Amino acid sequence: MKIFIDFDDVLFNTKKFRTDYLNIFKKHGISKKVFEVCYYSAVKSKKNIRQYNPVKHIERLTKLNNINPVALQKDVINFVKDTSKYIFNDVGIFLERFKKRDLIIASFSETDFQKAKIVNSGITKNFHKVEIINELKSRIVGNLIKSEKLLADTDVYFIDDRVEQLADVKQKFPQIKTILLKRKEGRYNDRKNKYCDFVCHNLEQAEKIILKFNGK
Ligand SMILES: [Mg+2]
Repeated sequence: MKIFIDFDDVLFNTKKFRTDYLNIFKKHGISKKVFEVCYYSAVKSKKNIRQYNPVKHIERLTKLNNINPVALQKDVINFVKDTSKYIFNDVGIFLERFKKRDLIIASFSETDFQKAKIVNSGITKNFHKVEIINELKSRIVGNLIKSEKLLADTDVYFIDDRVEQLADVKQKFPQIKTILLKRKEGRYNDRKNKYCDFVCHNLEQAEKIILKFNGK
């Protein structure tokens, strides 16, 4: 068995994290509007993906505002140092039910900030692999199928809150069971389509589906 799990809005309360992150900047006198204007790097990556870089964000804010960039940067670094409180409550129990070798985090947005957010949440030790990419996640799935020589009859699950990712995985690997996880705390409200085999509202429900296929 293999279970691919998305990070943001599935394992991690990204909405709450982002609200608290914005509040740091507000504390330094930066409005939400200015925070958002300066959010993305002016430099785009070669694949034209907007990449977040807090250092560049603060640099641009410093040009527009009379702030103390050193103090702000320190607060940001401290904030990202421990992100464990944003892990959803049902994650621990879910992870206990399965073997580490079967669990893979499949996350989008390959930035140092994203890596810090994930690693400093303290849950990566429960996973066989942590993959962060700027492409569709079917690439992660495909790579693992190849490297571990997974047979077509291996039970594989893919859990995500974004239908685009689920649809892409299902189209490329129809044997994989796709689970749309719609948490009430999530930022998106994607609608189930024909590529989503199941819809869940928490990991307890996802666990039930997976265990049912495994005769438990
Ligand atoms: Mg997500």
